[in-house]
Amino acid sequence: MIAPAQSLVIVGSGLAAWTLVREFRKLDAQTPITLITRDNGDFYSKPMLSNALSSGKTAAQLVSATSAAMAHQLGVTVMAKTDVTAIDPVACSVTTALGPVTYSRLVLALGADPVVTFRHKRASDFRHIETSWRGSGGHHSGVDFAFI
Ligand SMILES: Cc1cc2nc3c(=O)[nH]c(=O)nc-3n(C[C@H](O)[C@H](O)[C@H](O)COP(=O)(O)OP(=O)(O)OC[C@H]3O[C@@H](n4cnc5c(N)ncnc54)[C@H](O)[C@@H]3O)c2cc1C
Repeated sequence: MIAPAQSLVIVGSGLAAWTLVREFRKLDAQTPITLITRDNGDFYSKPMLSNALSSGKTAAQLVSATSAAMAHQLGVTVMAKTDVTAIDPVACSVTTALGPVTYSRLVLALGADPVVTFRHKRASDFRHIETSWRGSGGHHSGVDFAFI
């Protein structure tokens, strides 16, 4: 078992996870926190991705604090590049490639995955969407669409 039994384990290292760590630490500086994430754990503002390319920013320039700096500042153990593949609520542990990690409290801050119902690549696709959208008076018409 990697983490001590009395610990907060957070899966994810996005805004939700790091904000929870910050706020938790304001109240409790002692409880061990282990953050398990499939990415590298660096702190960055996801909305900045919108204009990163157009403003010529590199991925490294988007990072406002590295995983190591966040871990040091907030007293957290970060298990980066580590997928959680299963949860055992009876044993209070999560499964990772590095072995099971026990928790007394578990938070899943996994974000969301987009569901793409169909892809639009051509102007004719957009005309179809526009017609559907206007026909519904701007309300949901039963046709789901996403521009990515
Ligand atoms: C381009 C863009 C623009 C945006 N603009 C805005 C805006 O203007 N205003 C606004 O409010 N919101 C905006 N958002 C949305 C906002 O950025 C997100 O809602 C927010 O960042 C989500 O944070 P999160 O921590 O919930 O999830 P995420 O940042 O997605 O983090 C999820 C974490 O979970 C980890 N993870 C998932 N599954 C596992 C697993 N099995 N094992 C281990 N780790 C796992 C991932 O590695 C990741 O670290 C925007 C998003 C984008 C992409």
